[in-house]
Amino acid sequence: MADCIFCMIINGDIPSTKVYEDEYVYAFRDINPQAPVHVLVVPKVHIACTADIDESNSVYVAKAYEAIAKIAKAEGLDAGYRVICNCGDDAGQTVKHLHFHILGGVKMTEKMV
Ligand code: AMP
Ligand code: ZN
Repeated sequence: MADCIFCMIINGDIPSTKVYEDEYVYAFRDINPQAPVHVLVVPKVHIACTADIDESNSVYVAKAYEAIAKIAKAEGLDAGYRVICNCGDDAGQTVKHLHFHILGGVKMTEKMV
């Protein structure tokens, strides 16, 4: 998608701090971290949000979670971490390219669920 900032980051057109990359996903540090570790894991195809996941692209979601497990270990999040995925305006999604936030490195007190 030409006007998608995460597609531009995946293509290297916008700089990012890469944490992990494979055939399916790209992961980089959030520009506005909300925890000592705040990494975004994005599929290398443009999927707008979870509403657009189907059997043609769900492998990217599975691979994203495999990547999350590897990244969390590499970042030393042995005490735990939170994975957040916002979909749509009510959830506050600001970038309309599916992404998973990995948040960790601190004891989290706020809990919605
Ligand atoms: P969401 O609100 O769930 O759509 O999350 C979007 C996230 O992307 C926010 O946490 C932003 O701080 C982050 N973000 C936006 N632009 C960039 C960028 N150029 N590099 C890294 N993170 C970004
Ligand atoms: Zn995109």
